Amino acid sequence: MINKVGNLDITEGLDMDSDMVMDVVKELNRIIADDQILLDVPMKDYTSMRVGGNAKVLVLPSTVSEIAEIIKLLNNYIIPYYVIGNGTNLIFSDYGYNGVIIKLSDNFSSMTVDGNVITSRSGASIVSVSNLACENSLSGLEFAAGIPGTVGGAVVMNAGAYDGEMKDVVFETTCIDNAAGIVRLGCEDMQFGYRTSRMQKENLIVLEVKMRLREGNKDEIRSKMKELNRRRREKQPLNYPSSGSIFKRPAGHYAGKLIEDAGLKGYRIGGAQVSDKHCGFIINTGTATASDVIELIELVKRRVFETSGVILQQEVKILGG
Ligand SMILES: Cc1cc2nc3c(=O)[nH]c(=O)nc-3n(C[C@H](O)[C@H](O)[C@H](O)COP(=O)(O)OP(=O)(O)OC[C@H]3O[C@@H](n4cnc5c(N)ncnc54)[C@H](O)[C@@H]3O)c2cc1C
Repeated sequence: MINKVGNLDITEGLDMDSDMVMDVVKELNRIIADDQILLDVPMKDYTSMRVGGNAKVLVLPSTVSEIAEIIKLLNNYIIPYYVIGNGTNLIFSDYGYNGVIIKLSDNFSSMTVDGNVITSRSGASIVSVSNLACENSLSGLEFAAGIPGTVGGAVVMNAGAYDGEMKDVVFETTCIDNAAGIVRLGCEDMQFGYRTSRMQKENLIVLEVKMRLREGNKDEIRSKMKELNRRRREKQPLNYPSSGSIFKRPAGHYAGKLIEDAGLKGYRIGGAQVSDKHCGFIINTGTATASDVIELIELVKRRVFETSGVILQQEVKILGG
């Protein structure tokens, strides 16, 4: 997360040398247990593209107060930090990340149902929330049944598929800001747009999400989820590591079609390949580095612009250096 301390952009803050890592770990240990602090962590193990170098530190907080204390500590030390969920829309460079990754997923994932409202911590997988909705005969989250991210990642990205988007169901989020203050946002405050939100623009960390659903028929909900997942399996290269669609859908076009028309179906750089099943996906054929993937993304943008005049914008986020 690009963080501000006064006028200082914390990504330009201190590099974490080994003395500083040890100091910070000692302080982190006052907030969370040993097994919630990982050192020198390969980010390829925490992202679905399975590429990228190491992060100096990765923490797994499990309560709001732990998250708040960690942010205060990192601000005091002027150390860069970045929040991740399941890493399904993220690529870390081969140089890794010289700071602290705060991972909010299984460690921060409780959910409750009250009538037609589901309240979920941000680390719950959106698939499990979608299943919980189905079990309770609640309709509205069928579209999310095959999205591999967390609720936090899905809200921040306003994830969507098959005519559904998170903005259709989310009516309140509780976030924490860069100064560790709690912020509660209602519908009108969240500024959802196509794959964007106020939380994304303002680097707010999502803690909890409330979703309002409609009463429905459990069998119909389940069969819709199954059908959407069948369509996914048919169209998407799910047997390879990827970050899903690399590019946003340009107005009036489909990214995959533009890429295919540019002659790039199956095009490879190193171990990264434009999927020949769905050209909007770049897959890791097994040996890709982050540099292969990033080079291929840049080449695709260039060629598509040359052949169609359309400027592709990335949906996936690239970090580190
Ligand atoms: C096979 C495949 C299929 C996919 N299909 C779809 C699809 O149909 N529709 C779609 O929209 N996306 C799709 N995606 C992309 C991705 O799953 C979504 O964007 C998802 O919502 C990202 O969630 P995540 O937890 O993995 O986020 P991450 O990749 O970990 O993070 C993505 C962004 O969200 C931020 N973030 C994560 N958690 C939090 C939090 N708690 N608070 C604040 N910021 C946070 C991160 O800082 C980062 O900027 C697909 C990806 C794959 C690999």
